[in-house]
Parts: sequence; C-alpha cells; structure tokens
Amino acid sequence: PSSGATKLDLARYYALVAPLMMPHLRGRPVSFVRAPAGIEGEHFFQRHSESSIPGVLALPERLYPGHPPLMEISNVAAILAAAQLNVVEFHTWNALKTAIGKPDRMVFDLDPGAGVDWPAVQQGAELVRVLLQELGLRGWLKTSGGKGLHVVVPIRKQYGWDAVKDFSEAMVRHLAQTLPKLFVAKSGPKNRVGKIFADYLRNGFGATTVAAWSARARPGLGVSVPVRWDELAGLKGAAQWTIANIHPRLDAGNEPWDDYAPQAIGRAMKQLGVEPRS
Ligand code: ATP
Ligand code: MN
Repeated sequence: PSSGATKLDLARYYALVAPLMMPHLRGRPVSFVRAPAGIEGEHFFQRHSESSIPGVLALPERLYPGHPPLMEISNVAAILAAAQLNVVEFHTWNALKTAIGKPDRMVFDLDPGAGVDWPAVQQGAELVRVLLQELGLRGWLKTSGGKGLHVVVPIRKQYGWDAVKDFSEAMVRHLAQTLPKLFVAKSGPKNRVGKIFADYLRNGFGATTVAAWSARARPGLGVSVPVRWDELAGLKGAAQWTIANIHPRLDAGNEPWDDYAPQAIGRAMKQLGVEPRS
C-alpha cells in the first residue's frame, strides 16, 4: 500500500528478473516468505514443500531427515507460479542439494543496529572486504533490499557446516575485537545499539539468506541487487533499488558477480586459529 504496488507489479517484476535470478536459485534448497494478505498482513516463512507449485521441486527427504521435503525452484516459470501463490521473497541455503553437507558459500550479513547510519554500514562492508583480503579471500557484495548489506564468500565444498560456521564466527569475532566501536559479534537488539552485527549464524546448517533479485516483503518492495565493490561508496542505501526503479539496473544484471568462483579456505582458517575439520 505505501508504494501503490500491486501483486501484478510484483509478478511483472519477477517475469523480468527471473532469468537473472535463476543462477542464484538453481540447485539449492529454497525457502519462501509468503504474504497472502499483502505486505502489511501476516507473513509466513515456508521451508518445506506443502502443496505442489508447478516447477517447484520437492527434494528427497534424505537431505533433511525427519522433515518434510525441502524445495527447489527448477525454472523461470516456477518463480512466477510462486509469485502467483503470494511468495514475495526467495531465500536459499548455503549448500547445493548435491552436496548438502558441504556448504559452497559463507554469507556475512551486515545488520545495522539502532542508530547506525548508512555510511557506517558502507564502512563495515569495506572492512569485511579488507579482512577477507588479509585472509587471501574475496567476497561478493549485494544489497539486502532491506536495511543492510550481504557479503557472499564462495568456497570449495571441502568442509562441513560446523567448520565453516566456526570460521565465519572467528572472522566476526576478529572484527568485533579489532573494531569494537563498529562491530559487535553478539546478536540481540540490546547488544547492537550503535553497532553493526555481522551475523555468522547465517552460516549454520539450514540457515538461509535472501537470494539476489528477490524482492523484500517490506514497504517499498526493495530488491537485493549484486553490486561491484567500487559501487559501494556510491550506494544510497540497502533498498536503493526497488521493483519500481530497478529497470535501468537490469542491463548490468549479474555482471558485478561475473568472476564469482569457489575458494579454498583451509589456510585462512588456520590464520584465524580455526582447526579445519571436515
Ligand atoms: P536486512 O538487510 O534488513 O537485515 P536481511 O535479509 O539481511 O535484511 P532479514 O529479512 O531480517 O534480514 O532475514 C533474517 C534471516 O532469517 C534471513 O536470512 C532469512 O532467510 C531468515 N528468516 C527470515 N524469516 C524467518 C523465519 N520466520 N524463520 C526462519 N528464518 C527466517
Ligand atoms: Mn541483514
């Protein structure tokens, strides 16, 4: 209601970006944020296949034993079918269905606490990049479409969830210890007043992060957009792009992530004192 956007506008948006979105969805378990009563109504987070949506695959139960099947978006039409069923957000796992026990990426979710202004978030992302560089790693940046930024670090499928989470926790603790005015490693609103919380819990088994090009179920319908590091300083906010103003950005598409490629992390783990265990 705040932007006057309709469900049809959202469906048209997804029709435009679906081809750009597929590389971010393909092969991964996906969860949905559904908003059957609109953005201002109640939202549902859906992790499991309930009823069939055309093109939304129900994955084998052995991927997540003891739970109903996980889901995968198999094609462009499935994105639209999901939108028709009031899916607004698409979130993915950090692992592929073909190697569910070995994550292929880490995500650093930079969340501004109360009172943190946008320039501090930009600075925080730059500092995450510097730490990654010091560790011999690269990250790829996207806006969240909400309040913060996501730094995605593609990794080789070498280690299990716990090892990868330990490593991302060590990175976040290092940031919080080195730059305590800017970063906090503990979650919870009280702990993060005036600080950026770099959430490593996004890297545990079954955790999800909103996929690039997903719209957000928030007023204004922001969009998560891949950006180049040299665009960071010029970003005006995490919801700079919305389904209403995304069009001139579509030509750039996924180009900012063109050289996205998995990286070995064993040496970086040791550098931070994390014992690599598979
Ligand atoms: P922002 O930049 O505003 O922080 P964000 O995408 O980083 O946006 P949230 O929208 O707060 O953060 O999402 C929190 C995380 O928790 C997401 O990664 C999402 O996959 C997951 N999530 C969201 N809702 C639920 C839920 N109801 N149950 C389980 N996980 C959820
Ligand atoms: Mn966040």
